[in-house]
Amino acid sequence: MKSRLRNKFLLFFILLACIPVLALGGTILYLLDLAHQRDVSNLELQAIDQKEDEITKFFADTLGLLELRVESLQALENQESQPSWQERLVKQIFQANDAFEEISFIGLDGRETAKYSLFDPRAQLLYVADLPKFQEARKGRNFIGEVYHTLSGPMLTLAAPVKVKEQVVQVLSAEVSLSRLIKAVEAARLGATGYVTLFAQNGVFISDRARGNIRPGFNGSQWDRISQALSGAVFTGLDQKDRYESIFGTGSVVGAARRLPEIGWVIAVEWPLKEADEVLRNVRNQVMMVTLGSIVAVLLAAPLFAARLVRPIRELEMNAQEVEKGNLQTKVAIQTHDELEDLGNAFNTMVQGLRRLEELKEEFVFVAAHELRTPSTVIKGYTSMLLEGDAGPLTKKVKTFLSGVEQANQRLLQLVEDLLEVARSEAGRIAIEVKDIDIREPIQSTVEELALLARKKTISLTYELSDTRHVLANERRVKEVMVNLVGNSIKYTPKKGRVRVFHEVKEKELVTHIEDNGYGIPQEAQSKIFEKFYRVESPETRDITGTGLGLFIVKQLVEKMHGAIWFTSEQGKGTTFSFSLPIAS
Ligand code: ADP
Repeated sequence: MKSRLRNKFLLFFILLACIPVLALGGTILYLLDLAHQRDVSNLELQAIDQKEDEITKFFADTLGLLELRVESLQALENQESQPSWQERLVKQIFQANDAFEEISFIGLDGRETAKYSLFDPRAQLLYVADLPKFQEARKGRNFIGEVYHTLSGPMLTLAAPVKVKEQVVQVLSAEVSLSRLIKAVEAARLGATGYVTLFAQNGVFISDRARGNIRPGFNGSQWDRISQALSGAVFTGLDQKDRYESIFGTGSVVGAARRLPEIGWVIAVEWPLKEADEVLRNVRNQVMMVTLGSIVAVLLAAPLFAARLVRPIRELEMNAQEVEKGNLQTKVAIQTHDELEDLGNAFNTMVQGLRRLEELKEEFVFVAAHELRTPSTVIKGYTSMLLEGDAGPLTKKVKTFLSGVEQANQRLLQLVEDLLEVARSEAGRIAIEVKDIDIREPIQSTVEELALLARKKTISLTYELSDTRHVLANERRVKEVMVNLVGNSIKYTPKKGRVRVFHEVKEKELVTHIEDNGYGIPQEAQSKIFEKFYRVESPETRDITGTGLGLFIVKQLVEKMHGAIWFTSEQGKGTTFSFSLPIAS
């Protein structure tokens, strides 16, 4: 019952404290995760935007240089002969941008008319009518070729029409080096380990160098993500599928990718999770530590709290048990400043009430016994006078009846005396004064007084003196104790028995034993023998009269003289009552 209440409190505390902490911890972790994923995605998208700007600008610059718009060819031709103005222009355009490696003019018949090449200043003029760059530009459209990788790095062909009033008159074609653009793109970093990669419109990985196992020129469209991005899918880095194993051998990454609308290239950003999630991991660990710490604190504190709550209840229960045992001096001291304290006070008031009732009862017994004693003594006086013949001679029959009355009256008187003694002792009215006495005196006088009674029952009554005889006690009370104990021994021992009184020194106490070989006390009765009015119900002792108060009084007297009383008994074999008293030093 006790532990169950404690366990209930314990469970209650733990649930009450742990559930919110866990819920809060979980929510914080979830929100953190969301915020972090958004941050990572934003960073990656920003990187893509920035690179997109750089690439777009690169193409605008280079193509812009190729798109010549002239009022009329005459304006150019007039200055010098035809080849020389074209030669001058290709050189000028070539010098306008570092990325150009070769610039050529192509006539409408598909024949190159002028050329400036970084590799070969005297490069041959070729017939290129079949090449797509010429065919596209001839139709008036800009041409962006596929990326190809050379020893000096990734390259690309650009071509644009030369127009006179919207009329295509020539085509300008250029071989462009992508090395610088790619270097700029690859120099970009997310954190320390995140990187940007580029794939051309046909899926080819554009780079200056190999990355992991992937070499420049590798066809990225073999890879689902890139082939999807090439066909227009956008990866933001927010999705679960944006966390994957990189083909570049950098382990688990979070990636974003997007196709550039005009050029058709795909910019892909990858950030190894090891770094990207590091901050999140740290914060997450801290949140988990705090959550765990809170839970541990609750687990440690809850039993203490539960025990505190249960303690007053247990105190009440223990005190109630004391009251049940008859101890009305018990008092609970609960100081919790709440209803439990009120309950404790109510309990104390209740016990006080019980004490008052007990006092009233004792008072009643005392008064009643006291009032009974006088008439009983008067009856005793008159009956003994009558029996002694003071009122003249009595017939034998009257004498028999009168002695019956005398015996009954004697029993009544004894009962009254016992009741008075009990009432006095219970009300604490017996204050026993002790002094150094010779214990032999009261014992010997008791033995002498009871010798006649013993002889009548043919019981041998002996007293063995001891060397140690001085005890701290009250002579009159010791005699009262002895009369009761020896009287009981004679009463509860059949004819031809024996009663022996002797001493034993035990440390600072003198023990007096009263040993008989009488009926003995049944095992089941032994625990109650010192209780008020308790008498053993057995066939041998049924006819022996008594009040059941003697031993109760004896115990009170011995204890008031700072001694103790106990007994050993075996039914049918005999009993030994023993009491100790402090030896006078
Ligand atoms: P009573 O007036 O009945 O003798 P006591 O308080 O003196 O009351 O004793 C209580 C009971 O203890 C007795 O009724 C008796 O059954 C038992 N008793 C006491 N002394 C002895 C003894 N020496 N031998 C056997 N039984 C005893």
